[in-house]
Amino acid sequence: MNLEELKKSVRNIPDFPIPGIQFKDVTTLFKDSGNLKALTAELVKKYRNKGITKVVGIESRGFILGPIMALELGAGFVPIRKPGKLPAETFEETYEKEYGSDTIQIHKDALTSNDVVLIHDDLLATGGTMLAAYRLIKQMGVKNIYINFLIELEELKARELFPSGVEIDALIKFEI
Ligand code: AMP
Repeated sequence: MNLEELKKSVRNIPDFPIPGIQFKDVTTLFKDSGNLKALTAELVKKYRNKGITKVVGIESRGFILGPIMALELGAGFVPIRKPGKLPAETFEETYEKEYGSDTIQIHKDALTSNDVVLIHDDLLATGGTMLAAYRLIKQMGVKNIYINFLIELEELKARELFPSGVEIDALIKFEI
């Protein structure tokens, strides 16, 4: 199975959830066992020799492939969640969206200075969510941070928001 075939399995839904958004529906990609196996193998390939100790998944679609990648890499899994969901003490980061702001949280004891972290989310659009996650984890003083997406919307150029030394990878690219 090649990447073009995987890309074709992503369903585009125009004007969802609001007019003007081309929503990339990954459920059509995940429901096929062959696709799921192939894309997992492709996703983890780049990280096999990086010494990843924790995969951090962002709520909620980062919780689908994040734990699978963690298992494949022999790493632990850590969730980043919306406010009020994590039960113990948290660090948080607030970021601006087009309308209003959003906050994400992580358990204070989820990561240590020995961790090599791979942050995963399903899709890079404006980059606001991942940038907040990156800042949150950076402040925790881990050894190294890698960033991974299943899909990148290239026209939005969100990669440019991140410091140049940060390794960012996306398996499937769409213009918009
Ligand atoms: P952003 O902060 O703009 O990069 O977007 C963050 C989250 O919104 C991603 O994790 C996606 O789950 C979701 N998202 C944004 N745009 C789209 C889109 N066009 N199709 C599907 N999901 C999207």
